[in-house]
Amino acid sequence: MRRTLPVTLGFLLLAPITTSTAPPTRHPTLASAVRVTILSTMLSGNPEHGIGEWGFAALLEVDGRRLLIDTGARPETVLRNAQELGLDLSTVTDVVLTHNHADHVGGVAGIRERFPGVEVSIGEREARLLAGDKTPGPGEPQAPAKGAFQKVDWKPDRLLKPGDRIGSLEVVPAPGHTPGQVAFLDVRDRGLIVGDALQTRGGVAVSGVVVPLFPFPALATWHKPTALATAEALRKLEPSRLATGHGDVLEGPADAMNRALEKARRAFA
Ligand SMILES: [Zn+2]
Repeated sequence: MRRTLPVTLGFLLLAPITTSTAPPTRHPTLASAVRVTILSTMLSGNPEHGIGEWGFAALLEVDGRRLLIDTGARPETVLRNAQELGLDLSTVTDVVLTHNHADHVGGVAGIRERFPGVEVSIGEREARLLAGDKTPGPGEPQAPAKGAFQKVDWKPDRLLKPGDRIGSLEVVPAPGHTPGQVAFLDVRDRGLIVGDALQTRGGVAVSGVVVPLFPFPALATWHKPTALATAEALRKLEPSRLATGHGDVLEGPADAMNRALEKARRAFA
């Protein structure tokens, strides 16, 4: 994704706080309560608070453990919006990145500077892009990665593999939008955070399908057939909730995902 914010999107502000509380579970290792706070997105929602941008970051509070999923585009957005919302980020233990487009990793440096103890995680494959290497790997579609990748001067602390766990979040491979994107399935309630594997802004769509109202994720999509295969796999996880990098959180997304998949099959045929 490009970092440049079109004027028409410049008004977009902080999204509302979305809270979901699940029934208690008997399993001691699973979370009993999850709270999600969007800290950076282009979506309007609460124009009284925070600064908007074309980017994504969300604070997850899972049984007292606090994780930041993605970090927005600009170095200061998450920090400023947290301050304005009265949220203390000093107890955040993990920054977990879905993919390396600039609008998702741009805030890492600022957050690390402010909170040096935080552990930064990204998918193993995606980490190669952090060093500026866009070349396809062996066995991958031979196409260069697209979109604005952030070449960074920091290194991730942890490289994520499918099946790894961060609290109640399970790492799920989600390539296609980028070569090494990962999604996160909350094993407690099957909430699914997909990065840009799908978008919900302008209508639910698989990465690579151009949504006229918000076409930018499609334009930054690396390999459409892979994106479609990923979306099919994500749908099979039967998510209870779909959180995307661009658009509103969707509860009960099955029907909307089915329609998006059908549209993608036709578009990519
Ligand atoms: Zn992206």
